[in-house]
Order: sequence, then C-alpha cells, then structure tokens
Amino acid sequence: MKKMKDNCFNEFDPNAMSVEAALENILKSISSIKTSEYVDLKSAFGRILSKNIKSKINVPNYKNSAMDGYAVNVGDFNEKNKTYDCIGESFAGNPFLKPVKKNQAIKVMTGGMVPSGCNAVIMKELITQKGRVISTKSRIIKDQNIRFPGEDIKKNEIVLKAGKEIDEIDIGILASLGIDRVFVKKKPKIGFVSTGDELVSIKKPIKISQVYDSNRYLLHGLLKKYPVEIKDYGVVKDKIKSIEKKFVEASLNCDVLITTGGVSVGDADYVKEVLEKLGKVNFWKIAVKPGRPLAYGKIKKCIFFGLPGNPVSVVVTFNLFVNAALNKLMGKGQDHVLSLEAELLMSIKKRKGRKEYKRGILLSKNNKLYVRKSGLQGSNILSSVKDANCYIELGENMREVPKGAKVKVLPFTLTSEHYEQ
Ligand code: AMP
Ligand code: MG
Repeated sequence: MKKMKDNCFNEFDPNAMSVEAALENILKSISSIKTSEYVDLKSAFGRILSKNIKSKINVPNYKNSAMDGYAVNVGDFNEKNKTYDCIGESFAGNPFLKPVKKNQAIKVMTGGMVPSGCNAVIMKELITQKGRVISTKSRIIKDQNIRFPGEDIKKNEIVLKAGKEIDEIDIGILASLGIDRVFVKKKPKIGFVSTGDELVSIKKPIKISQVYDSNRYLLHGLLKKYPVEIKDYGVVKDKIKSIEKKFVEASLNCDVLITTGGVSVGDADYVKEVLEKLGKVNFWKIAVKPGRPLAYGKIKKCIFFGLPGNPVSVVVTFNLFVNAALNKLMGKGQDHVLSLEAELLMSIKKRKGRKEYKRGILLSKNNKLYVRKSGLQGSNILSSVKDANCYIELGENMREVPKGAKVKVLPFTLTSEHYEQ
C-alpha cells in the first residue's frame, strides 16, 4: 500500500531551510567532545589539540651563527685595525667557552654558538687568512649572520592553540620544543549505513536493476581525512523494521550516524519516519541542490545525518554539513573556505529559491580565472566530481547565469592540474 508523505515535488519548497539556517541549526545542536588523551608526537598527526601549547624554551635557545665564518666584535674593526686573531673554533654542539678578548675572532660553523663577546659573523668566503690572522675588505654590520635566542619561538609563547588540527609543520615545531606527547581530543565514533533494496556488495556480480553500494566506500574515504573512528554498519533493506533495528544498534555505539538513501518522498523512503520514531528530526529539507532531502536530528545522544542516496549529493552534503558538524564535535575551529571569483565560460541553468553547487573546472589564463562545468550535473554523475577541481556556488536568488558572468568558485585545492591548462 502506498504511504502518504510530505510533498517534496515542488522545486520551490517554502518549507526548505536555507543552507545558512541548516548550518546554524546543526552547529547549535552539537557540543564538542569533552574527553582527551595523550598521544605520542608522531601519532598526533591530524588530531585536534585539547590545550594550548606554551613553549618552555627559546628556539633557538642560544645565540648562534647562520653561516660558516668568523665570529668577531664589530667594535674592534676600524681604520687602524682591519685584522683579527683567530683563537679557536665553535661547532654546532661543540661551543667555544673561553672568553674572547679585543681583536680576537672565533671560527664558527653554521649553528655553532657565537661567544658572548662577539656581535657579528663574517662569511668564510669574505675572509683572507694568514696563519691565525684573518682580515676582510667587506663592511661588518653589528648582528650580521647571527641567529638570536627566541627568534623563532619565545619562551612562554603560546605556539599552538587548542582546537588546532595538528599538521606536519606543527609536529616539526613541537619536536623543536622537545615535546614528545600531546594532549588531543579523543576520536569520535562515526558510523554509516547504506539503505536500499537495489544495493549489492562490490564483491558480487551485479544484475539488472541492481546498483553497487558505492556510498559506503565514498563515506569511508571522506571520513578518512578526519581524526575519527570509522564504523561501517553495512547495508540495510528498505524495510522499516530492519532500518529501525540497524539505527538502534548503530546509534548506541556512535557519536554520529550517517545514512544514505531512503530519505526522500518515494514509497520506499523510510529513514525520516524511523528517525522521527526513534529520536528527533530537526529538519529534513534544505534549499540546496544537490542535497535537498537531508534528514538531520538525533537518536538519543547520537547525531544523525540522513543523506540522500545519490553519490554526488552525498559528497556535496558531506562537504557542506557533515564537515561543519564534525569540526564542531571535535572541538576544531570551522574551516575558512577560500572563495574566488571567476568568469563563466558557458551559461548555466538554475532555478530561483535554492543554492546550487555545480561541479566545475577552474583554470587560469593570463592571470584571469575562468570556470566551466565539469560535465553532466545530475546528482548521480559522480564523474562530474572526479573531473572537477571546484564548486561553482550559485546563490538562492540567481536564475540562469549567462556565459561571461562572474561567479563564486570554491576550489577543492590550490594545486590542481587544471590550473595549468
Ligand atoms: P534514494 O535516496 O534511496 O531514493 O536513492 C537515490 C539514488 O541513489 C538511487 O538511484 C539509488 O540507487 C542511489 N543510491 C542509493 N544508495 C546508494 C549507494 N549506497 N550507492 C550507490 N548508489 C546509491
Ligand atoms: Mg532508496
């Protein structure tokens, strides 16, 4: 028997939430995880810092030479005296510790300590030497070629702030401070389930009217970039009882549950109904394409995202909404999305009343940016994302956008091969 459902046929759905309102609703409903743990420095890559990191030392922690050369005192160098007596050597890790007197110099290697009596290093290449006596024709300027304590990082300085996602540079910096373990947020558990009678495992042969379940692999890949524990709950058929059972099991074991498919108004779409029964639906329609039917809510404490089934919709809604939710949950600051303006190389059809995220190819020619669609824009065409290097973001109020118009572009990365075309 056919079920009566909310109407989702009207493209100009007045009940659909704006992208901004949906994001606000999501962020308000999530609080950051409280639990943290210590991990060793190498394992800290990609994790979220729980506490500010304050440096206990100066980096560098001693005055040292930026060059191989000779450490001298500039004050000793004048019209009458243009030579120094080189009385010793200072290597990195092997300093010269005796006092350096007037008109004396120390041969110093890069990173070697510059003795306290010296205030400049003359490059080796600018020196002439006879026995112990060195001289130069170059001008010597106070502090030249000297690296000072704290020049990179000062003692007591806050080097990294809580909420920072630790990257390879941070790891290098932490190591330069002698920090071998870091206090980071515990990994939240993120589970996903695919729904659909048509779905078949990638290990099996496919029959007519079946579809390989690619969404779980897509989600696995998307989630891999986050410091989270990934839990795969497999596939569930379009049966209320089975969906309910799976959602209960997964929501008890996860901080976030992401489902795909079954969230629209088709006769086999039960996800919203089950969410309503087990928990709370915050909203389920967003004025966005792709991604309009998206059920967001909670099952007890578990944050719930019912994403649409079409793979492109999965990627776009993940980028737009799940990403923000995960950032908030992990106690990370929200991403600053770099946007550019580019000239459209073709006209694009668009309906008023919803934001659209077209998949595009951004390219630069003669210092100007141009963009075109990356192929067919149906939400089932995942190759349009494969071939894209950006989203073309078209605002709610825009209609058909003509060729030559300036549009807002959100690049995926700044090093795409398409930039050189
Ligand atoms: P639905 O949202 O369930 O109506 O599904 C919309 C479209 O996405 C249908 O063509 C489905 O076959 C397809 N789809 C749903 N789930 C998946 C999945 N896990 N992998 C690939 N395609 C899917
Ligand atoms: Mg379905």
